[in-house]
Amino acid sequence: MDAQLEARIAELAARLRESRRTVAFTGAGISTESGIPDFRGPQGIWKKMRPIELSEFLADPQARREYWRRKIESYPQMRDARPNAGHIALARLHEAGRLQIVITQNIDGLHQKAGLPEDRVIELHGSNAYVACLGCRRRYEWEEVLRFFDAHSAPECPRCDACGGWLKPATISFGQAMPEEATRLAFAEASRAEVMLAIGSSLQVYPAAGVPEQTRRAGGLVAIINNEPTGQDSIAGLLLRGPSGRILTALADRMEQTERLGP
Ligand code: NAD
Repeated sequence: MDAQLEARIAELAARLRESRRTVAFTGAGISTESGIPDFRGPQGIWKKMRPIELSEFLADPQARREYWRRKIESYPQMRDARPNAGHIALARLHEAGRLQIVITQNIDGLHQKAGLPEDRVIELHGSNAYVACLGCRRRYEWEEVLRFFDAHSAPECPRCDACGGWLKPATISFGQAMPEEATRLAFAEASRAEVMLAIGSSLQVYPAAGVPEQTRRAGGLVAIINNEPTGQDSIAGLLLRGPSGRILTALADRMEQTERLGP
């Protein structure tokens, strides 16, 4: 690790020790080290295919089938993914009382798998862990839906038993409304945060990308941890360029060492 990055980690550790409320905002980049590709990074999914918007999913049977084809193809990878060093370091910081909330754009559930309590994680873009009806929000498990696809060789997509609405993984697609309560909570947390760690996000997808900006506006420090420039480097009080797993592990190690040794 180069000396400049080490110095910035030391400075961030000092700021975390002073902070009474620290919040992390994570994006797809924190999960690439678990083998889940991001969208806009150099190996991102959007370099290979374009997203299917909710309006297309609703209106066009072919788009709906293609949406489900992609989701079914990537499901085993997401189901089996394990938290990496970055997720584990954030869980350690929480355990040590140094990180109060994680706001995530991710749908992979890896913060919870790393040990963060369910009620400390705000999922802004929903979750891929289950399927929901777009009409009545009734929950379905993946196994039931996969059985449907196995049983129907004709290219159909599943509908809700209760209301007939289309079923879709419980994630937020482009063009779909954000979950109201999670969004409200995320912006409230961002306003209260004395330090905001923005990790592995290109900070381009709004309204989610407005979360770190909110901390900056409210007078808090934004530290951006990403392996390439982001849309909001200009608001960062601290920029740490590099892989999130290594940087966050070094940060958690440093916090633990200094806590043991005293100031
Ligand atoms: P993004 O793809 O726009 O940006 C990811 C950023 O992380 C890029 O700048 C990339 O260079 C950086 N990055 C990749 N690996 C990194 C690493 N190991 N260390 C540090 N930086 C790294 O992602 P976004 O900002 O989260 O926005 C995309 C949307 O994609 C989100 O809304 C999210 O819902 C969704 N998404 C989620 C997952 C997931 O759940 N794991 C995966 C893909 C996309």
